[in-house]
Amino acid sequence: MSDQKSGLRGIKTVRDFELENKVVFLRLDLNVPMEKGKITDYTRIDATLPTINYLIEKGAKIVMASHLGRPKTSKDKEFSLEPVAKAMTERLNKEVLLVEDPNAKAVKQLLHTLNKDQIILLENVRFEAGETEDSEEFATRLASYTDIYINDAFGASHRAHATIHALPAMIPNRGIGFLIEKEIQMLDGLLVNPKRPYVAILGGAKVSDKIGVIEKLMDVVDAFIIGGAMAYTFLKAQGHFVGKSRVEDDKVKYAKELLARIDARNKTILLPVDHLVTKSITDTAGASVKKEFGEGEMGVDIGPESLRNFTALIKEAGTVFWNGPMGVFETPEFSKGTFNLAKVIADSKGTKIIGGGDSAAAAEQSGFADKMTHISTGGGASLEYLQGDKLPGLEVLRFKVRS
Ligand code: AMP
Repeated sequence: MSDQKSGLRGIKTVRDFELENKVVFLRLDLNVPMEKGKITDYTRIDATLPTINYLIEKGAKIVMASHLGRPKTSKDKEFSLEPVAKAMTERLNKEVLLVEDPNAKAVKQLLHTLNKDQIILLENVRFEAGETEDSEEFATRLASYTDIYINDAFGASHRAHATIHALPAMIPNRGIGFLIEKEIQMLDGLLVNPKRPYVAILGGAKVSDKIGVIEKLMDVVDAFIIGGAMAYTFLKAQGHFVGKSRVEDDKVKYAKELLARIDARNKTILLPVDHLVTKSITDTAGASVKKEFGEGEMGVDIGPESLRNFTALIKEAGTVFWNGPMGVFETPEFSKGTFNLAKVIADSKGTKIIGGGDSAAAAEQSGFADKMTHISTGGGASLEYLQGDKLPGLEVLRFKVRS
């Protein structure tokens, strides 16, 4: 069991179990991005392999489970895990058997005859209504063939769903895999004794989504860098005219108070000083870099001077945490600030941790992913964990430890 101080205290890991011939229910996050039935990014699949390979090596009988997207019914075949099963067969060099019916009888029969070169993958658990309802009835059926429960689905651990929460609550032999272990160790490192200076870079659409994490990080970081649409709420709070840039008017007052609190604590906050400005989000040809906004103009990316200012701080950082793009990076013409930022972070010498979601995608697309210390596989889960929320999928695994 893990260190008492860490977020992993009281939680067993896959190393703590005798696995030979045991049926291990392995909850994974195989919720990969797909286009027209083809997987477009294998990061999440690859991140699951260390735990699966360990279970194989130790002779466990593996039943893997995951959700994929948000299907309405089991007839929503575009959400089938079929392509994932194929990709895993290739990567593991084992036969991954996709089982449509996760309920006791079919799986038990298969487990009876399962050989060492075969692994079971249950079809998308969200095809069962009981999954998102955290149904005990559904979980009971899964529990009937489970000896050991292992959660390695970090990206889904903030959801109280049946295969994340109700099921492990019924299994005394429960713990986590290597991926969750690493995710929590990395995120704990952002809260306890980070190397200094410590810079948190936040971007993306909304201030309101990041308030919890800003409040939590305020006590630990030395500097904030704010970009993306979020920055315009802060700039407006400072009295700047931001045209029709995306602003959360009901958060301007909060942003103003926050700026004052950061200042009072002698911490640094950097906001963009120039912007890629356009008349509309679809007007890519008319975009140009400006310092001031005209009437009817909006900011869609940070400008080069902003990036230079940010770079000076990031270069010297002992720890960098990044969550949220610097602009509308899905549009190639507006992606420069985000991708250049990824490079600056990759080149910095300290610990660099990417908080999942869009910034993880941007780090991957920029080609600098392998230079990061850690890229979280869970955007929502990593932010919730960092802001101090309890993740249902972790809490249910925790055994009481004497302090
Ligand atoms: P989030 O999910 O909060 O990390 O926000 C990501 C979204 O923010 C992406 O879809 C971006 O397109 C969007 N975004 C970032 N910068 C801007 C901006 N300046 N204006 C509008 N949307 C933005």
